[in-house]
Amino acid sequence: MNKATAVTLTVVLGLVAISVPIAIAIHLAWKQAFNQEMELASSIAQDILRRNHASLDQVRAVFHELAAAQASDPCSDENRRLMAKLDLGSEHVQAIGYIKDNVLRCSSFGRHKTVVSAPAYETSYGAEIRLALEFPLLPGKKFLVVTDKATGYTAAVHPNLPIDVFAEDPDISVGLFSVPSGRLILGRGNFQQQWMGHLGDAEQAQFSDTQSLVAIQRSSRYAFAAFASVPTAKVYQGLVQAALVLVPIGVAAGVALGFAVRYLAMQQLALPAMLKVALRRHEFFLNYQPIVDLQTGKWVGAEALIRWRRPNGELVRPDLFIAVAEEAGLIQRVTQRVMTILGSEAGELFERYPDFHIAVNLSAADLESQATIEGLRCLARETAARHGNLLIEATERGLMRAEVVKEILGEIRSMGVQTAIDDFGTGYSSLSYLESFEFDYLKIDKSFVDTLGKDAATSQVVPHIIEMAKSLKLEMIAEGVETEAQAQFLRERGVQFAQGWLFAKPMSFEQLIAGLSASGASQECALQNGGMRGDAPEVARA
Ligand code: C2E
Ligand code: CA
Ligand code: CA
Repeated sequence: MNKATAVTLTVVLGLVAISVPIAIAIHLAWKQAFNQEMELASSIAQDILRRNHASLDQVRAVFHELAAAQASDPCSDENRRLMAKLDLGSEHVQAIGYIKDNVLRCSSFGRHKTVVSAPAYETSYGAEIRLALEFPLLPGKKFLVVTDKATGYTAAVHPNLPIDVFAEDPDISVGLFSVPSGRLILGRGNFQQQWMGHLGDAEQAQFSDTQSLVAIQRSSRYAFAAFASVPTAKVYQGLVQAALVLVPIGVAAGVALGFAVRYLAMQQLALPAMLKVALRRHEFFLNYQPIVDLQTGKWVGAEALIRWRRPNGELVRPDLFIAVAEEAGLIQRVTQRVMTILGSEAGELFERYPDFHIAVNLSAADLESQATIEGLRCLARETAARHGNLLIEATERGLMRAEVVKEILGEIRSMGVQTAIDDFGTGYSSLSYLESFEFDYLKIDKSFVDTLGKDAATSQVVPHIIEMAKSLKLEMIAEGVETEAQAQFLRERGVQFAQGWLFAKPMSFEQLIAGLSASGASQECALQNGGMRGDAPEVARA
């Protein structure tokens, strides 16, 4: 990635990092405000229903008592006294009377002959409903009047009482409508006929359109339903309030994330510069991971793995910085550094263990450069390395410029340095292509070793790689062996060497020397005690 792309990417990621949490905060705030208003509408609708049930229950109780009195004349003095008594005893019923042939004949207030309008409609339970009726002696008040069709007894209910909820908020429309006819029985504010379609056969419905949030609740006992609707604008008012709390939190999270992204991006951008400083300041050191003989368990060599410890103590993984060094054109300096460190450490090793080998990882640029030959020649001289003490590992990715690399590899081999193809199977090279490079070893990549013993389709690949290596007459080193079952599988199929946590993790030079001498000692003891196989030393099982 070049610098311009990296900067653009940083800015884009930063913007995303800041805007996403804010967008989420606003969305959550909107959802919260919406749910809150919808809950309000729903609870109002339920309240209206409760009040209407109470009213109707009282009306029916009044009718029941009047019918039970079995008065021969409904307007008799005695019956009217009963009406007055029932009227007083009922909170929701405002007046009681008797209607016959659309004439109010009497009420708890006296005898009348008041012609009234025909019923607006009749309910399924035998009641006639008149809306907005005036009662004699109660001028100026309009009542909802319910008449028991069978007896003519009539009760007046204050029309606002059953919907007298939330009276202080005029923006909220409330009401009651008849489910079979769809007619509004009582209501205040906005009511749209098409809302009823949303209820269908359901107990309740909640929905919204551009204008309103609506909740409808059907009565479980009567053929009507209550509704309440809140203007959508109220949601936005609520949203502003919720956003005032949530957006600053979103902004804070966004800014923090933005800084984190920037920090990471800066680190990424600054890595080449930091690598240069690290090279100057000798912040690199080596770990060694033993390579074992699968038959004897003996450590026959080790791979040198570079480590970078920053001045603040942080360890940077090679997977991160090797690729950066390769891109920034710094990898050859890194390889140089590896060889310099090896130059000071490996001499002692080869002197004490003449058959031991150390493997060095080379990148594409190393494999294309004459400087690598010089570096290896110096290393061999400094460490008094003999044939086979040094080994280089080249990945398939490093073999792109085949002609140049072949020449360099040829020179490396002629110096007595052995060669291994690393991460085998992860590239796309053909067998014949690889054949032309003349390697000594093939390293079976960890990703394939991982599949051994699992049902994965790729576990079929290892036997193929083994066959390939055999046909190319290459010795094999299996990487990343973590279980005895994997080791057993590889051993049985003739893989000679292995490397992995089962045997030893990468370790310091001192630990490697200690492990080797412990292993040598235990082998001597084993020989004395009857020639048992020397196991990998304790220290190796990190
Ligand atoms: P690699 O060459 O494939 O090295 C093997 C990696 O696998 C090492 O990771 C090693 O620690 C890890 N490994 C070994 N056995 C096991 C195991 O049983 N389980 C697991 N999970 N991992 C295991 P490391 O040291 O982090 O190196 C990563 C890569 O960095 C190396 O992969 C190599 O490509 C590169 N690298 C390391 N040192 C150098 C170097 O000096 N020069 C160059 N050019 N590349 C290097
Ligand atoms: Ca390697
Ligand atoms: Ca490898």
